[in-house]
Amino acid sequence: PLVLGIETSCDETGIGIVRGRTLLSNTIASSMEEHARYGGVVPEVAARAHLEALQPAIDAALAESGVALADLDAVAVTSGPGLAGALMVGVGAAKALAVSLERPLYAVNHLVGHIAADVLDLDAHASLSPDRPQGKLEYPTVALLVSGGHTALLLVRDLTGDVELLGETMDDAAGEAFDKVARLLGLPYPGGPEIDRAAAAGDPAAIAFPRGLSRASDMAKHRYDFSFSGLKTAVARWVEQREAAGEPIPIPDVAASFREAVVDVLVTKAIAACRDHDVPRLLLGGGVIANRRLRDVAIARAAEAGVEVRIPPLSLCTDNGAMIAALAAELIMAGRAPSTFAFGADSTLPVTDIQVAEGPA
Ligand code: ATP
Ligand code: MG
Ligand code: FE
Repeated sequence: PLVLGIETSCDETGIGIVRGRTLLSNTIASSMEEHARYGGVVPEVAARAHLEALQPAIDAALAESGVALADLDAVAVTSGPGLAGALMVGVGAAKALAVSLERPLYAVNHLVGHIAADVLDLDAHASLSPDRPQGKLEYPTVALLVSGGHTALLLVRDLTGDVELLGETMDDAAGEAFDKVARLLGLPYPGGPEIDRAAAAGDPAAIAFPRGLSRASDMAKHRYDFSFSGLKTAVARWVEQREAAGEPIPIPDVAASFREAVVDVLVTKAIAACRDHDVPRLLLGGGVIANRRLRDVAIARAAEAGVEVRIPPLSLCTDNGAMIAALAAELIMAGRAPSTFAFGADSTLPVTDIQVAEGPA
């Protein structure tokens, strides 16, 4: 099926077009710069930006793929989770498009969309994806999704029917932690790339920052859950004490030690999930995957554990419309009925709701 996907859950306006598992176009407009002076995504600003970016993004995606609106077999949209106001813009646009074209509409889960990014056949785009093993996504797989808005560990037995949430963050998302620590070090937003750059010249073992929810007692109760707010506070306290003592802040060492703490916890828990469930595959997704240290540590420790790591190209790891179109295409190929229009934006949509408002067959 030829599917156009609309993604507006956060600050990216993503329009993707796929034909089955073939990627035809993936247009992304981000309002990231508009949020920079606030140090984080401002929901109202994001929603307004989607409204302005949607139509040009749809036009660009159609032009890039050489597809006409009338050729489409279905429209797909992210229903949640995400920022309610931002989601609503995409949902409204998708309903209008589906009605006017008289095409079925598939309302899907953003997190499961991140996993669906890996079903796309990228042979025509091999350069996009140096770390990605060839061949298709196999089941079961453990997925670690890390971005500015979420940090989740999932067990995927079937993309269209069986996705289990093993654990998630109890407070800040991993990307959010990068952004907050960057801010307290006086580095600009988004903080991930800034911390990464500063860390390159630092010693990851310089400061022993805490690994959240990793003690034996925590691992019993929160084996797959994450917590980054304690780490953020530890960095803040360390920096304050230095400043109070009138000593300079070794930013590279702080950045490298902080990054190591985040990476260590993420990878340790992901590999534990693979081992516990006897799953030899780990899929990584989300914008924090841009972190080279995270990729390297994941690949190295997975190899020791006999686990294959799959990393989609970065343009498919950050929020995008192609993954939403890809998930809808999988649902269609699995014979799933389209969504009714009885759905809206669900900011807390659980990952087990892969498709929302599925209509009668
Ligand atoms: P969502 O949670 O809906 O996916 P988002 O827009 O916040 O929303 P992404 O766009 O996928 O998430 O990722 C942005 C986040 O990734 C930011 O928090 C940013 O700091 C972080 N990030 C980007 N590059 C790096 C990096 N090299 N290292 C660590 N974090 C990074
Ligand atoms: Mg983003
Ligand atoms: Fe996302």
